[in-house]
Amino acid sequence: MQFSNFGNKFTQKSGILQLMDDLGTALNSDRPINMLGGGNPARIPEVNQAYQKTLEQIVANGAGVESVGNYSTPQGDTKFVSALVDFFNREYNWGLTSDNIALTNGSQNAFFYLFNLFGGKFADSDKAILLPLAPEYIGYADVHVEGKHFISVPPKMEDVQHEGQDGFYKYRVDFDALENLPELQNGKIGAICCSRPTNPTGNVLTDDEMARLDALAQKHNIPLIIDNAYGMPFPNIIYSDVTLTWHSNIILCFSLSKIGLPGVRTGIIVAAPEVVQAISSLNAIVNLAPTRFGGAIATPLLQDSSLKNLADNAIQPFYKKQAALAVSLLKQEFKDYSVKIHKPEGAIFLWVWFEGLPITSQELYERLKAKGTLIIPSEHFFVGLDTKNYRHAHECIRMSIAQPDETLQKGIATIGEVVRKVYDAA
Ligand code: PLP
Repeated sequence: MQFSNFGNKFTQKSGILQLMDDLGTALNSDRPINMLGGGNPARIPEVNQAYQKTLEQIVANGAGVESVGNYSTPQGDTKFVSALVDFFNREYNWGLTSDNIALTNGSQNAFFYLFNLFGGKFADSDKAILLPLAPEYIGYADVHVEGKHFISVPPKMEDVQHEGQDGFYKYRVDFDALENLPELQNGKIGAICCSRPTNPTGNVLTDDEMARLDALAQKHNIPLIIDNAYGMPFPNIIYSDVTLTWHSNIILCFSLSKIGLPGVRTGIIVAAPEVVQAISSLNAIVNLAPTRFGGAIATPLLQDSSLKNLADNAIQPFYKKQAALAVSLLKQEFKDYSVKIHKPEGAIFLWVWFEGLPITSQELYERLKAKGTLIIPSEHFFVGLDTKNYRHAHECIRMSIAQPDETLQKGIATIGEVVRKVYDAA
């Protein structure tokens, strides 16, 4: 069978396909697997109970059947949009109206739209999406309909302490490189995008860094897209003291996935009406209308602020505890080795740097997989950078901390055993 160029591009072996395949296979496997590879959120009992109760309520009051019994408009479920408008205005006083919000089938779907709206072929030239900090979210890498249109610059790295301990580092945006980027000067950038907290590293761009990105985007008359999948106000898996800003040049993307509802595939875009209308038009063609069921669950939880309470009092403390456990286990495994951890500031992963690793992290991934432990190798996350001669891009791994303690213990023990052997053999 012959596929079109579009077909060939979207059926190639992408990083995201490897990740989702591994995840699905591990979950259905008879063999015990230490699943530190995927992006599934944790099952937190308190959070599960809240959803169980809400599900029972929306079945009893008819909102559940209503939400699956009719399409919404292409913009998305009206009641949910209105609950989001009230919630964001209550929390942040942004002065939103329903013209500022569109829903998508998960935020991955939103990025497919946004990157193809602002990156790709334009009437006069090609434009790329600028990712100011690599490593960035693997799921961006392959979404362009034709070609790959991402540009990034290598990060600055700074040794930092974490809770009084050494052995940590933090990526910082290299603003000199960014502000002097020829593509930006020549009008070849269609938008700037960053995830905050960042998947895969757990980095949180500081308020100063965000203000500079915001100014840069405004100067070049392009939007700043902020991927808030792990950010505030929900799921609020963020430990550093930062603020969230929105205005009409910012496109803020939210998701219900990391609050524990990835299966409802609900993404939320807060943006200028022009962008919201564009997303609605895309929704009509690609999906007719976005799914409504996530909104049916989240609407009552937004109205009484219990979603925010769950995020602040159950979700955030859970991941903070898991990050501390994973850090202490890694420190035990690598006492005498040159291993650094990215300062955990949020999200549901730790990013570990095996400095001078004698094999690539892709090879390390294969060896760990053979021993029943799944991680994601770092190569895939340097979207928009040529990593052939960039050794650091081949020396790190991303591991999920969303798993139960026992999985973390076993998985990290295997990582310790395999990596020490690699270093010792060199
Ligand atoms: N953005 C980031 C940073 C993510 O980590 C993910 C999922 O892992 C997504 C977006 C997409 O999430 P979803 O489509 O489930 O909303």
